[in-house]
Amino acid sequence: TRPLAGKVALVTGGSRGIGAATALRLAADGAAVALTYRSRPDSADQVVKEIERAGGQAWAVRADSGDAEEVWASVAGTVERFGRLDILVNNAGVGVLGPFETISLDDVDRVLRTNVRAPFLAAQAAAAHLTEGGRIISIGSCMAERVAFPGGTLYATSKAALTGLTKTLARELGPRGITANLVHPGPIDTDMNPADGESAEMQAGLTALGAYGQASDVAATVAHLAGDGGRYITGASIAVDGGFAV
Ligand code: NDP
Repeated sequence: TRPLAGKVALVTGGSRGIGAATALRLAADGAAVALTYRSRPDSADQVVKEIERAGGQAWAVRADSGDAEEVWASVAGTVERFGRLDILVNNAGVGVLGPFETISLDDVDRVLRTNVRAPFLAAQAAAAHLTEGGRIISIGSCMAERVAFPGGTLYATSKAALTGLTKTLARELGPRGITANLVHPGPIDTDMNPADGESAEMQAGLTALGAYGQASDVAATVAHLAGDGGRYITGASIAVDGGFAV
């Protein structure tokens, strides 16, 4: 049997990029997968269809991570749809880069709502349903560990906050046999950070491997943490960054 057979996962921002790769991977490992999206129902639908074609179960739900009611509804909807919840992947995120002085109040609110408040609220809502063996996995960023160039005040602030969330969740949920971990991707080829983008060469050059990673590289580590191999890993920050933070 597959490693996640019988498990139910919720992946936020599962319509594209790292979230889509994670949804596909967890489904390939046997989990039934709910995925959220904000603006691209077509992409979300493609992920669902691909999982179903492979014989898996998937469900897409529109839920803006910036909206608390929608975050709560996505967790409740997953439990309604699949009867339980075992794995929460807080992946949806936005990046606003630019000189410190140019970041607006709207930017601050939007980025903190999406990258910090949503994982907090989703973890809170999910914890009510998780049982022994449950997993909360958040997607941070290598910029939470090493700030190699200017322009990331807001983004790095938001991603570093997930360290506090993850470590405390590990302490509070550990007694229930539930783990919480953080995965820090480096430059990963997605719509957010295309490998042929303007700053791609600079970013690749800052890694030890000198190259971009693929969304599936991050998904592989999430799958490891979600599976039995992750049972004794909690409160950890794991870099999947080609050595960016070295
Ligand atoms: P993409 O921009 O390629 O994809 C973002 C995904 O998140 C889409 O599915 C999008 O949905 C969804 N999303 C965005 N905002 C919201 C929202 N408010 N509510 C619900 N869903 C939302 O990003 P990546 O795959 O590159 O990034 C995924 C995560 O990885 C993010 O947290 C990012 O910060 C982090 N990361 C990425 C790195 C990289 O180099 N790519 C490096 C380090 C960290 P829709 O399709 O509907 O728009």
